[in-house]
Parts: sequence; structure tokens; C-alpha cells
Amino acid sequence: MSLKLFNTLSRQVETFAPLDPASRSVRMYCCGPTVHDFAHIGNFRTFVLADLVRRYLEFRGFTTTHVMNITDVEDKIIRRVRETGVRLQEYTSGYTQAFFEDHRTLNCLMPHHVPRATDYIAPIIELIGRLQERGLAYQAADRSVYFSITKYCGCGHRYGQLVAIQADQLRPGERVQNDEYAKESLADFALWKARVPEDGDVYWPSPWGEGRPGWHIECSAMGMALLGPSFDLHLGGEDLVFPHHEDEIAQSEGAGLQAHGAPFVKHWVHGAFLLVEGKKMSKSLGNYHTLRDLLQKGYSGREVRYLLMTAHYRESFNFTLDGLAGARTALARLDECAAKLEERAAGATAAADPVLIEAFSRAMDDDLNVAAAWGGIFDWVREQNRLLADNRMSQDLAAAALAAWRQVSGTLGLVPPSGVEAPAEVVALAQERQAARKAKDFRRSDELRDELKRLGWLVEDTPKGPKLKRA
Ligand code: AMP
Ligand code: ZN
Repeated sequence: MSLKLFNTLSRQVETFAPLDPASRSVRMYCCGPTVHDFAHIGNFRTFVLADLVRRYLEFRGFTTTHVMNITDVEDKIIRRVRETGVRLQEYTSGYTQAFFEDHRTLNCLMPHHVPRATDYIAPIIELIGRLQERGLAYQAADRSVYFSITKYCGCGHRYGQLVAIQADQLRPGERVQNDEYAKESLADFALWKARVPEDGDVYWPSPWGEGRPGWHIECSAMGMALLGPSFDLHLGGEDLVFPHHEDEIAQSEGAGLQAHGAPFVKHWVHGAFLLVEGKKMSKSLGNYHTLRDLLQKGYSGREVRYLLMTAHYRESFNFTLDGLAGARTALARLDECAAKLEERAAGATAAADPVLIEAFSRAMDDDLNVAAAWGGIFDWVREQNRLLADNRMSQDLAAAALAAWRQVSGTLGLVPPSGVEAPAEVVALAQERQAARKAKDFRRSDELRDELKRLGWLVEDTPKGPKLKRA
């Protein structure tokens, strides 16, 4: 069997294959956090989903190139910079750092690239320039540059690939400045926002005058710069379908850099919301928990991660502290069984027990059916416990069971990373540096080495990978 995933573009569950069907490598992009505050665990439901998809693709034998951007300039951030009187970079760097710490506490793998929008102003300007050359972008009287939906549709493109849009919803000449808008206020959207006094010193020069990019163009530019004009998989939370992702498609396909007939992205995956008492967990409703709050209450990142992986990614579910207590009990059962197997295996090795691997892959291949996967895992645990209790578990059987459990729990990201005793923040920086090196971004990797040094850590590159040492 092969992996099937729901594709928002076709509104169907499809067999997942990269754009080049012969390739076993997947280029994936997940919209990252807007670093205006600490991320809440609703945000992390989406990032844990991206991490799970990546880990599962790797389990299925694909290699991945995973990009997650950091939105470090947009409307909300500018408002906060204005309110606090702190400089943009200073304001966002603390929350970016905190985000990576939480990301790691949830045992999410560091994406291979974590571009910050403010480091991509030049490619963003270039992309807007290209849209203008092609007649799809225009500067309005307010000096901002907008994307013309009418012109885009006039060139044979379809606006409304991810959501249904009726012809009478297109109102030529109307414009929207806000990064976030509802379908009812659909209009030409801002690519470059002309500087206004409220922006303070957050602005860059451009061919259209001083200003800053709109949120949507940031992701088109970063995605295409790092993964090419066409890539395999794009993820995000369900609120990003419209307008953010619809606009990403319009800008990227409007620039026409793809090979003839190729889409900007082949497969779109959207995760449903984490709810609190039936409502979306969000900053604006004030009904949110940060990971930090939960750690303070005595829960672990592993327990939160487990809970976030119990519901199907296309179903919203309610977060409760009872749910977290249930995660603790479930993990204790799994850990207890693994510990008994470890004792029985006494260091022996064996090929992984195919029963568990097959049950797990069958469930996960079916559009990441985690409910069935957990069902299979707990049936298997019951069986292992029975064999252990009846004294029918040989050393070889235990070793095979353990090998299978290691693969499965590794794919679910439930094995705590081992080795280094450095604080999470330091390990996150070291991982980011490794990702930068892999991407040959040596300027960034040197910056990160210096940052680590300031925190009192040296990073040594060994054949087995980077090692952290006290400076
Ligand atoms: P933001 O930092 O607001 O740009 O959001 C980062 C990611 O979190 C986006 O992919 C959002 O779609 C996602 N997100 C926001 N709220 C929730 C929620 N309650 N449940 C799941 N994902 C969410
Ligand atoms: Zn995005």
C-alpha cells in the first residue's frame, strides 16, 4: 500500500506522490509562526502535524526537505512593536527563540530551513517586480502595490483553487490592505504596503518607495527561493486556506516561473483547529494555553505531543487538562511495556516485529488515521503484556518487539532525544546551525556558532554530527 493523504486542492484523498513520481524526495513547506507572542498549543497542533508528516514520509522511505518560515514582519507584529517601543529585531528574536525552545520540547525535528521573512526582502521585491512586469501588480494612489485578481483571471488563471469563489464575489478595483480578511471582503490584496507613520522604523526601500511586504508574498518568495517554483507539499492550519494560501498560489503561479503546466504546489494539507470548549484556541479569544503554562502545571512536552496526535488531523478536537491526564496514563502503559521488553531482550537485537509495523503503516497510510494506529499499537501492547505475563516471551521475541516499537515510537516522535545535556534553547540553536550548514548558508551558521559561544557553548563537528561542549 502507499500513503494516501487528503489534498485540499482536489478535495479528495489521493495517493501521495512527489511532482516527479520517480523521485523519493519530498520538498515540503509549512507556514511557520508569526512571532508576535508565545505560540499556543493550538499553533503547535499544526507544527506537530507537519513534523508527523515529515517523520512518516521518512519512515516510508522518502527523504525530505522541510521548510518552515518565521513570519517576523506583519500587521500584528508592527502593532506590538509600536506599543512596546522596542525595535523590530529585538522584539521578534525573543519570541523566535522561545518558539524553537517549545518546538524542541515537543520533540519536533528542526526543519532543514527556517527562513525569516526579513532576511528575504530582496527576493520578495524581485517577485513583486516580476508580477508588475507581467501586468498582475499595480501601484495604487496610496503608493502600496496590489495584486490584480481581474488581470490574473484574464490571463487564464483561476483564483479560487482551494476555495470556491463565485464570479460575483470578484469586485474589480476594490482593494484590501489587511493581511487577514474574510471571503466576503475578497479584493485585490497588498503585496507591498507603503510606509505609514504607524510603521515607525519598520520599512525597507523598494522600487515603489519605502514600505514593507504583505504577509502572503513572504511565503511565496521564501517557498520558491528554497524549494523551487514548484514543490510537492504545503501544509498549514485550516485558517490559512483563504486568503493566505489562495493568495500564495495566485502570486506564485502569476509569476509564471513553473515549467509549463506545473502547479506551484502539488499537494496541500491543512490541519483542523484545536478547540477549547468548542471554540478555536486563539490569542484573540483569550482561551489559550502556551506550552510553558502546561509545563508549569507539571505536564511534559511529550504528554502534550501525545495528546495532539490522538485526533485525526482533519478533525477539530477539544483540549482539556483531563485529556492531558489521559495522555500521561497512556504513555505510562507504553513505557512500562517497553521497559519490560527491554529487560527481557537484555541487549539482544533482532529484526523488527512485522505485526506492529504493518498495523501501524496500514493505519497511517490511510490519510494518517491515528485513531486506527493507536488502536493497533494498544492491541499489540496487550499481546506483548500477555506473552510477558505467561512467560512466553523469549529473548528474541522481546528484541524483535522492541525493535518494532523503537521504529514506531521514533516515527511518532515519542522517543526523547538522547545524548547532550545542554538546555533546550542551546540544542535548538545547534540544530538550527546544523540545518543552516546543510543548506550551505554559512553566514547564518557562523552567526549561530557565535550566538552559542555567547551562551557558553562550543559546537564541535564530528563524523557522527555536531557535539555540544561547555566553552
Ligand atoms: P500564526 O502564528 O498565527 O501565524 O499561526 C501559526 C500556525 O498555527 C498556522 O498554521 C495556523 O493555521 C495555526 N493555528 C492557529 N490557531 C490554531 C488552532 N487553534 N489549532 C490549530 N492550528 C492553529
Ligand atoms: Zn505562509
